[in-house]
Amino acid sequence: MSGTMTTENLRIVSLDVKDIRFPTSLGAHGSDAMHTDPDYSCAYVTVKTAKGDEGHGLTFTCGRGTEIVVAAVKSLRNMVIGQTAFEIFKDFAGFWRSLTSETQIRWVGPEKGVTHLAVAAIVNSLWDLWAKLLNKPVWLLLADLEPEQLVSTIDFRYITDVITKEEAIEILKKAREGKEERIQDLFVHGYPAYTTQVGWLGYSNEQIIELCQRYLDLGFTFFKLKVGNDLKDDIRRLELVRNTIGWDNTLAVDANQVWEVNEAIEWMKELARFKITWIEEPTSPDDILGHATIAKALKPLGIGVATGEMCCNRVMFKQFLQADAMQYCQIDSARIGGINEILSVYLMAHKLGVKICPHAGGIGLCEMVQHLQMWDYICLSGTREGRVIEYVDQQHDQFVNPTIVDKACYQAPRVAGYNTTLKQEAIEKYEYPNGSEWESMYQKGLFHDPRKLY
Ligand SMILES: [Mg+2]
Repeated sequence: MSGTMTTENLRIVSLDVKDIRFPTSLGAHGSDAMHTDPDYSCAYVTVKTAKGDEGHGLTFTCGRGTEIVVAAVKSLRNMVIGQTAFEIFKDFAGFWRSLTSETQIRWVGPEKGVTHLAVAAIVNSLWDLWAKLLNKPVWLLLADLEPEQLVSTIDFRYITDVITKEEAIEILKKAREGKEERIQDLFVHGYPAYTTQVGWLGYSNEQIIELCQRYLDLGFTFFKLKVGNDLKDDIRRLELVRNTIGWDNTLAVDANQVWEVNEAIEWMKELARFKITWIEEPTSPDDILGHATIAKALKPLGIGVATGEMCCNRVMFKQFLQADAMQYCQIDSARIGGINEILSVYLMAHKLGVKICPHAGGIGLCEMVQHLQMWDYICLSGTREGRVIEYVDQQHDQFVNPTIVDKACYQAPRVAGYNTTLKQEAIEKYEYPNGSEWESMYQKGLFHDPRKLY
């Protein structure tokens, strides 16, 4: 924290947004049945106070289209500039609603798609700022908030049929017992991770075996494989993985939305013999009843349905949870309306007895989501049993304070903030389209220079 926290010092004087893209498509990293060539990217927001304190937030994107999110952030910018940081935090739910329900912009949402991604990037930058002003990591900021304060950040509109503000406060008060022990425990043991690294669709046999071995050696016991392009090929790759990791380790698969509802059921019946814990995103991320049908059909096979990484907002999460359409709730830290709305999903999932196993990977998703899951362990569920955070070992070196995973566990972040500050060098190299690395890739013919006509 720099200087005293006077109102004038804490006035937000600027909000900058950058289009940052990493050329991950060159190595097929992140390739799945739907996203065959992602260039992991983000819309990167920096808010700055009069005193000079900064908050950094981002939302993850897959390359093309990031410029649209950047434009949406710019459309919301004037609602943030001129505000005083602690005035926002005093009534964060009210401020959050002013962004998501802006009387004209809401027509191009509301609370979904590009405008909601833009809200997430802005809101995440404000949480980073808040934590930095208090000199705490976000997970400890969350854990230190009184139940009433925490709940005051959440907009309960449209979810009170499942959970009310008063109920949420009650739940959080009850969950406080043992809180200090759990904080200490997190510092020592961290939070369990699983790896998606072994099974991107673009990888060769040798790459898959080598990666399985590497992650086994690192202590991982939970693996996830991309499926859904070709049944025979899925069987071949699952055999390869099972032969390498054995049958005691946990295995899940991810179809990234490629199937019809019935197709998902038939396909998974063929894969069930590989002892699959969950099928992730079997069909359209919007098809709540379709997911419920799949979940019901696969339950006798011991396979649960996991989804949420592309779920639009808390209302859809509510319905997924109410309809038994997800057995594993995969919140994504860069989506829905940032931390405020994600907290409401944690509370609903807790009340309805569904485990949260967050989505991560991409850019900054591991960095952010570890904070939320650690808060859940300390303040809400009180357990790590059957819960695990996705881990992908990519692009962490672009951050000033990257995620640290040791012995297959996320280590509790100790630095202030949300771990979302990119290195200056990463920005200079990878800002799109003018970053130095992009200039050099256009020259090598690896990418088309978007500033030139075809
Ligand atoms: Mg996925």
